[in-house]
This record gives sequence, structure tokens and C-alpha cells, in this order.
Amino acid sequence: MTAHLDFFTQEMQEFAEQSRQFLEIGRHAGRFPSASAREGRSGAELEISVWCSNDYLGMGQNPAVLTAMKEAVDAFGAGSGGSRNIGGTNYYHVLLEQELAALHGMESALIFSSGYTANDAALTVLAGRMPGTVVYSDQLNHASIIDGLRHAGVEKRVFRHNDVAHLEELLQADGDRPKLIVLESVYSMSGDIAPLAEIAALAEKYGATTYIDEVHAVGMYGPRGAGIAAREGIADKFTVVMGTLAKGFGTSGGYIAGPAAMVDAVRSFARGFIFTTSLPPAVAAAALAAVRHLSGSDQERERLAANAQLLHRRLTEHRIPFVSPMSHIVSAFVGDDARCRRASELLLERYRIYVQSINAPSVKEGEEILRIAPSATHTTADVEKFAEALDTVWQELDIPRTRA
Ligand code: PLP
Repeated sequence: MTAHLDFFTQEMQEFAEQSRQFLEIGRHAGRFPSASAREGRSGAELEISVWCSNDYLGMGQNPAVLTAMKEAVDAFGAGSGGSRNIGGTNYYHVLLEQELAALHGMESALIFSSGYTANDAALTVLAGRMPGTVVYSDQLNHASIIDGLRHAGVEKRVFRHNDVAHLEELLQADGDRPKLIVLESVYSMSGDIAPLAEIAALAEKYGATTYIDEVHAVGMYGPRGAGIAAREGIADKFTVVMGTLAKGFGTSGGYIAGPAAMVDAVRSFARGFIFTTSLPPAVAAAALAAVRHLSGSDQERERLAANAQLLHRRLTEHRIPFVSPMSHIVSAFVGDDARCRRASELLLERYRIYVQSINAPSVKEGEEILRIAPSATHTTADVEKFAEALDTVWQELDIPRTRA
């Protein structure tokens, strides 16, 4: 045994209790949220309903998206064949970037192999290259933002989550230094929404550049699915918008959109963009079809909003605590590691409902949640059944409720 093998064997033995179990599922194209899952102990196939997918609008099975993907495979094959700079820029990459720039009313856009990479690569450049920059980062920003800022090696101030007064205090203290505010619109675990107008006003007052991650909003909110800033009519107040193609748009990949000079700087200097193979053309073609579809259809957004609102109402009636009623991310608060895991198991065993329990380190210990994601593909009856099932599980495990 080498020293490393020895080390990791021991570490994973110690970690065994907290170890994450990945449920093996096959989402049925055309019938999602239905999926098949392999039961851990017996290996039996179960038919389940998925309540924790980020394919919020069901675009991963949209016929126009699937057709675009299949046609692009037939035309251009499986992979892109290279990095963007060396033979790997396909016609669909460019069309998709043009479509995303237009969606956000920005000069330019750039796609990456994932949303994680988009944040990591873009922030490394946008926060890291200009000397003297100070970054103001919301306390609940996603790991990809934290990693991008780390790689930028930039001076960073963390403001309390959505706390505009704290942000202003920090901005004020830094005088004339170049400032960059980094935030999300819909927060991925809490589902609450940032006070965008107030943050935009502060950015203006202090001459700060803004970078907004709209990963859990693009496709789902705003005219044409352009996100929360667009919904609030203030998209032009944010310098750079970042999004994913993997959630509302149902495929895979990430992007930024913004002023041409800044996007070009990322294209020219970001290692996470330069030194990796570009997205398969068929993925870009599918994403393009999804963006175009959602630019012209409100139906999926309306279904998602109706399901989320009904779920908020039912959980409130059952006095099941959830973190925020502001979005479609409905995080039911359990606050206990073992009970959260058990709740997830019971939902699956008894009701064939799959909601992943979210435990440390994704959330702090004692803040465990069931991150429930209704989708546009759930029916009203599905939502009603889900709420009843959750209520029974809450009862059985004696999970605290909100006060009457
Ligand atoms: N930003 C936020 C806020 C996220 O929640 C996520 C992923 O969940 C990402 C970025 C990364 O996006 P992707 O899944 O496309 O890599």
C-alpha cells in the first residue's frame, strides 16, 4: 500500500457515515418527472417521481430540443474535436453565443463547458486582472464563485447574505479602489432572491462593476426567460450576467454575457475557457433550441410558477417550515442530519418520491434541508400528493413545524 492509498482508505472509512449515496436514476424522456431508479439493497427497478431535478422546465425532454440535438449529432458527430481556439469552434457555438447575448441585451456572450467553469474561469479574469480590485461577495455565493475569486487571488469582502446595509458599509470603507460586486439572483439552496434594485443602486453610487449569477433564474423568470434582473426591468444595471444551460435550458454548459471588451478578455485569458475541449456541437444545438423555445413560450414558466405557489400554500397549511416563498426552490427545513436523510428515504420507500436530502458541507450542520424542486412537468395532482406525503413523513419523524 502506498502512503496515499493508506491515507485515503482510512479517511473514507472515517467518513463512511456521512458518505453520500447517489441514487441511480433514468429520467424517462417524454415522461419526466417520472424516472426509474435502482433500489439500493435489492437492486430492484422502481418507478419514481423526481422532485429534486434542476431541469425545472422539462426542457431536457422538449421535442424541439431533442430534434436539434439528434440532427446535430448526425451532421457533426459526437464531440467538438478540440478547444475553441484549436479546431473546436462549431457553427452552433457561435449561434448560441449570439442568441444568449441577444437574450440578455448584451454586446457579447461566451459559453463554457459548465456553469461551474463559467464562474471559475470568468471571475479569475474579471476579478483578478485589474490591479487594486476589491470584490464584494454575498455570503451564500455558490462554490464556483468562491473558487473563481480564489483563483483570481483578489482581495475579497464577504457581505452578509442579502444585507444591503452591510454591503454599503464595506463599499464605503474602500474609497476609490476599483470595485466588483458578485451576487446571485435566486440563491441555489435557500431559494430566496437578492434585493437587486438596491444592490444596483449601490453599485451606481460607488461606481462598482456588477457580476450576477442567474443560474437558477434563466429560462424561468423574466420576459423571454432572461432572468430576475430582466423581470424587474433592471437588466441593464448589471455589467455581466452569468447563466447555465443545464437547468432551465435542460442541457449542459454555462455562459457569461456582457460588454464586448470584458467578454473578449475572458475569451483571451481565462484558462478554464482556453485549455479545454469545447461543448459537443449537439449540446450547443440543443441549448440553442431550448433558449429559442423559451424566448417564445411562457407556458413552461407559468406551469412552474403555479406548481411552486401551490406547494408554498400547502406547506404553509401543513406548517412545514420552508426557507423562502420567493422562488420555485422550496427548501423544507429539517435542521437535523439523521432525520433529513431518513425523510428522504421514507419518501422514496413509501411514496416513490425522490427528494435528495441536503446535508453538510452543502449546508451548515444543523441547517439540513430537503431541497424540493417542483417542475413545470408535475401536475397539480402530483403537487397535492407530494404535500400529503411530506406531511406524513414530518409527522412520523417528529420534525419541528412552524408555530400555528
Ligand atoms: N452557480 C450557481 C448559483 C449554482 O447553483 C450552480 C450549480 O448548481 C452553478 C453556478 C454551476 O452551474 P452548472 O451546474 O451548470 O455547472
